[in-house]
Amino acid sequence: MLPLRRELIATAAPKFDVEAVQDTGSTNTDLLQRARQAQPRRPLLRAALRQTAGRGRHGRRWFASAGGALLFSLAVPMQADGARIAAATLACGIGVAESLRAAGAPITLKWPNDLLLEGRKLGGVLCELAIDDEGRRTLVVGIGINLHLDAATRDSIGQPAAALDQVVASVAQRESLIGSIATAVLETLQLYDEQGFVPLQPRFMVLFAHRDAVVDLLELGVRVASGRALGVDGEGRLLLDAAQGLRVCSSGELSLRVAG
Ligand code: ATP
Repeated sequence: MLPLRRELIATAAPKFDVEAVQDTGSTNTDLLQRARQAQPRRPLLRAALRQTAGRGRHGRRWFASAGGALLFSLAVPMQADGARIAAATLACGIGVAESLRAAGAPITLKWPNDLLLEGRKLGGVLCELAIDDEGRRTLVVGIGINLHLDAATRDSIGQPAAALDQVVASVAQRESLIGSIATAVLETLQLYDEQGFVPLQPRFMVLFAHRDAVVDLLELGVRVASGRALGVDGEGRLLLDAAQGLRVCSSGELSLRVAG
C-alpha cells in the first residue's frame, strides 16, 4: 500500500497546514484534542490511511479498510459565536458533494450528514466543536468517503453502501481528491461563518436526495415524525409536509429513512 503523500495533499489544499499519517485512532479525535488546547491559527488538515476507531454520529462506528477510503479531518477556526454544528454539517456536505461532482461522481445528500451515490451511502461528515480556554471556537470536520469496498467492510456496515471507484476512474489520486474536497469545504464553511446558512440553502436544495419523498425521521431507532420532505430552511432544518401540517425538524439525534 502506497503511503499518503503529504506534499501532494498540500499542493491541492494551499490554504491548509497539512499532516498525513499512516495510522491513527480517529483524525477527528486527534484534532479535537489539539483545538481544545488552542485554536489553530490556520486551517489544519489531517489525513490518515487507516483509522482504528473511526466514528459516526452518536458514537456509532465508521468502517474502512486500510487505504480503502479517504479519511481526513479539518480544523477550521470560526468567528461567529452562534455557529451551530447542525447547519455547519450541511455546509460541509455541500462542499464535499460539489467537489466530488466536479470529479465526475453524481453525489446527492441525505439530510443531515450523509453522502449518497446512486442512493447508497458513500460517506459521511461528522462535525464537532472545540472551544479553547480563551473561548475561541474551532470546527472539527471529519470526512470519510469510500474509495473501494471489500466484502468484509460491506458486511460490517450493515446498510447499502457505495464506493467512488464505481464511477471515478482516477481514485488512485487520493491526495488530490483530499486536497480539492478540503478546499471546497473551507469555502462553504467560511461562507457559513460569515453569512449563515441562507446563501447555502439553494445549493443544498440542488443536492438534496429526498426532495418530495415521503420519509420517516427516527430518533434512536424510534419514528418521531413522518411526511413529505420539502427541503431545508435558512437554518438547515428539514421541512416536512406532515399530516398535522408543516413540521420543522432540527437534526440533533435524527436519522432520515425513506418511508415504507
Ligand atoms: P444512517 O446512515 O443510519 O442514517 P447516520 O447518518 O446517523 O445514520 P452516522 O452516525 O453518520 O449515520 O454513521 C454511522 C453509520 O454509518 C453506521 O451505523 C453504519 O451503518 C454506516 N457506516 C459505517 N461505515 C460506513 C462506510 N464505510 N460506508 C457507508 N456507511 C458506513
